[in-house]
Amino acid sequence: MTNGHVTWLVSPLGYQSITKRCPSCEVKKLFFPAGTFRVNAQKKTLDVWNIYKCEKCDYTWNIDIFSRVKTGKLDPELHQRFIHNDLEEVRRYAYDYPLLKRNQAELGPLPDYEIKGPSPYAFNDSRILHITIEFEQAIAVRFISLLTRKLCLNRRQVVQLIEQRALLDVTVLEINRKLKGRRSLRLDLQRLHALDIPLTTSSAPAVTI
Ligand SMILES: [Zn+2]
Repeated sequence: MTNGHVTWLVSPLGYQSITKRCPSCEVKKLFFPAGTFRVNAQKKTLDVWNIYKCEKCDYTWNIDIFSRVKTGKLDPELHQRFIHNDLEEVRRYAYDYPLLKRNQAELGPLPDYEIKGPSPYAFNDSRILHITIEFEQAIAVRFISLLTRKLCLNRRQVVQLIEQRALLDVTVLEINRKLKGRRSLRLDLQRLHALDIPLTTSSAPAVTI
């Protein structure tokens, strides 16, 4: 029997929203990136904003990306991506939490996410499965939420896997914490199969991020 390797990529769905009082709706609303940048060139300086739009009406709000940056200092390729409203760049800035903080933006709810990568149950020929968890964007997700979702188990069953040393390199205490970056762990598939834990019917339980 060989050992298997798998990468699970945590990828948020849609954009991180921000929340603020919409002057047009006259109540607090969520604002999402409109998918466009605004670039303003003045003499030799540039301003770049990510445009956000009220979820309900057309009111827009600008998030500063660059303010009065010297034109020559901006990477020409990035400049082009701003001009052409590159959606990957919009997404990247939508998850730039330090930038949102600098703009004093109040965050809306964290978006749901998917975990790309094969199910651990696809590795029947492996004894140990080496799992690497990676994040497409810098979102913080509770470790237990990732594990229950990808293992199709409930919290109590995941704890059982840790206690029975089927899930290695992780402690019961640790699964309550939020993961923010790359993390590796191992799953002993032989032990897992020997425990014969019934899978939960729902493969995508409600997620607490
Ligand atoms: Zn509005």
